[in-house]
Amino acid sequence: MNLSSPIESIPRVSAAYQKRLNRLGIKTVKDLIYHFPFRYDDLSKIVKIVDLQINEIATIRGEIINIKMLRTFKKKMWLTEALIKDDSGTTRAVWYNQPFLVRTYKKGTWISLAGKVNYDNKTFFFSNPAHEKIDPPTASRNLQAELKHTGRLVPVYPETARLTSKWLRYILKIILPKTLPEITDFLPEEIKKSQNLIGLKGALEKIHLPKTQNDIDSSRRRLGFDELFLIQLYVLEQKQKWQAQSAPKIKFDQGLIKNFVVSLPFNLTNAQRKSAWEILQDLEKPKPMNRLLEGDVGSGKTVVAVIAALQTIENNYQVAFMAPTEILAQQHFNEISKLLKNRGLKIGLLTAKECKISYDLPVNKKQEIESCSKKKFLQKTEQGQIQIIIGTHALIQEKVKFKNLGLVVLDEQQRFGVNQRQALQKRVASAKDKTPKLIPHFLSMTATPIPRTLALTIYGDLNLSLIREMPKGRQKIITKIVAPQNRQKAYEFIRQQIKAGQQAFVICPRIETTDSRNPSLRGAPLSGATKQSHNNRLGLPHGSPIGEPFAMTNNQWSDVKTVTEEYEKLSKKIFPDLKIAMLHGKLKAEEKGKIMRDFKQGKINILVSTSVVEVGIDIPNASVIMIEGAERFGLAQLYQFRGRVGRGEKQSYCFLFTESSSPTTSQRLKAVVSAQNGFELAEKDLEIRGPGEFYGTRQWGLPDLTMASLTDTELVKQCREETEKLLDKNPDLQSSPLLKEKLKQFQQNLHLE
Ligand code: ADP
Ligand code: MG
Repeated sequence: MNLSSPIESIPRVSAAYQKRLNRLGIKTVKDLIYHFPFRYDDLSKIVKIVDLQINEIATIRGEIINIKMLRTFKKKMWLTEALIKDDSGTTRAVWYNQPFLVRTYKKGTWISLAGKVNYDNKTFFFSNPAHEKIDPPTASRNLQAELKHTGRLVPVYPETARLTSKWLRYILKIILPKTLPEITDFLPEEIKKSQNLIGLKGALEKIHLPKTQNDIDSSRRRLGFDELFLIQLYVLEQKQKWQAQSAPKIKFDQGLIKNFVVSLPFNLTNAQRKSAWEILQDLEKPKPMNRLLEGDVGSGKTVVAVIAALQTIENNYQVAFMAPTEILAQQHFNEISKLLKNRGLKIGLLTAKECKISYDLPVNKKQEIESCSKKKFLQKTEQGQIQIIIGTHALIQEKVKFKNLGLVVLDEQQRFGVNQRQALQKRVASAKDKTPKLIPHFLSMTATPIPRTLALTIYGDLNLSLIREMPKGRQKIITKIVAPQNRQKAYEFIRQQIKAGQQAFVICPRIETTDSRNPSLRGAPLSGATKQSHNNRLGLPHGSPIGEPFAMTNNQWSDVKTVTEEYEKLSKKIFPDLKIAMLHGKLKAEEKGKIMRDFKQGKINILVSTSVVEVGIDIPNASVIMIEGAERFGLAQLYQFRGRVGRGEKQSYCFLFTESSSPTTSQRLKAVVSAQNGFELAEKDLEIRGPGEFYGTRQWGLPDLTMASLTDTELVKQCREETEKLLDKNPDLQSSPLLKEKLKQFQQNLHLE
């Protein structure tokens, strides 16, 4: 048996147990050894029976002097009762529904018992204590070293049906001594020294069989560091590889950019200017940029990307602009066409359902929009006749070829999986053979705040530009949780707002009553399976990661507001005199496009919609958003919804409606009410759900220990420094073959979605 042996090769692991282990994602001996406890029960206090104290957790050892099975008639349960004696006295233990115990423990056997000490009828007793058979004590033996389930710090593992921590302790105690000698430590000696880390062998032993709290802490620190370190290496290596490629130098033209900025209907904020400047500087380099533009909802990221696009086009390169939803792609198409009017440019829209090109008429300079066949569109793209191609996932298809792509913009990058992002980068890297082979610059954008530790780890290959400033004149959005009896008041309020010339959104969680769970409500990539296995490994309940709706069974859905019902009600009963429209993912592309255009032009007063408007949609004249079934949405989603208003200078409002009275719901909604910005909200979310999940980490399938290490800013910083130092000295890891091999394995095991 060695580390890579399949679990089938372990004696005493039956086929049934193999299946159960597989359920935990454990396939090899190594997986088993790397299945770490998430908690330890301190049963280390071993006492004499005479010294037992009520309510304390203790272990005693003694001989069974009597054991019997009783049937309790009241509760119809089997009760096993044992009398145990040591050299100080006797005590009782009872177990419920474990009739097999009378076979294991005969009169005269020695037992070690651990648990909470109870008291009744003037005697002490243990109820359902942990137990294990031991040999009778002799002077020469150290009994304590042999204990697995009692009398020590007892590890508790993530379990699955019919696979208990007790069994895991049993099997690990057998395989650890056989396999640990084989382990080689890949971590360079100097890093261990400077970080005060223990060796790998010791860490793996201590995490399963700790003697002291210090054993637990030092092994956790070491094993947490390992993964962090490998992530850093992987990410920094990716960065090196990306930067080793060549990209077109996009020359900065001050006159052009000045002219564009002056033509805008507003002044750029300082943060926008600074970000644009950082991007333009990157573009001038012959290495491909990989930059993330992070700015709160409504902070004006689009225009910054347009500046970069304009400069790229001026240098005769094309720009691809990708958005996660069709509606957002349509909006970008309309807005960017408008912003770049009168420059003789052709701007294209490519989604799964439609192709369009906007261009300036040479005579009167009016902008025209032409629908075109996909074939023609792709042809024109390949010939370089379209300068900006805006689209959805359709942009990544094999068929789409560019003449000379210079810049790729990925909007709302948090909505794309790591794999999709990598696929996009790979695709563009192989876009077209040129000599020398040039690959485009990459700009991604998000409103999702990335905690500093993540910026240094899983997003460590990106350079960051931050917009931490809102355009002038924006007012704080007034957010309220509205009680059901005040619904009418909310409607009256909306009516006033509309009378004053504003517009409103009404968001519902569902399209119609007949469809059970509708997947089109969500655009984000999701892998339930991965999430589940990950959470199982963490030993966590299946909470909802930020940004995802809670999982619901069909009958829970039945009381959820639907867009169709709400639309009927609002347009016929509540606001029969107003113009109301309905929007959801099942509508045709042209319909969606028309509704959003009409809404933007003020031809619609109230838009009743599903979450299709969650990200990116920009209607500065909308001042109210009313969210039905608010408990159905993740915190980040609610935050994004709220960001649909407050994009102009008018005071805006967000009303949250919920039927749920659970304390967590109210805690979460209150967090949205009080959060001033995305950073604050992310922190609150962490508080509510614990450090189990961070943005984006789920996609990495990181184990519990690494997750915990990720909350340790100091450790992450030091790890980053060590990694950089190492790569500086030893760029290709040439002199650390062991580490190189380990990194390769790590890469293979990553399951980036
Ligand atoms: P986000 O960062 O959420 O993508 P957008 O780029 O959609 O935000 O911009 C939100 C709104 O703010 C748009 O209507 C845009 O025209 C406007 N805007 C952008 N920059 C400024 C600015 N400096 N001053 C005023 N309004 C701005
Ligand atoms: Mg946006």
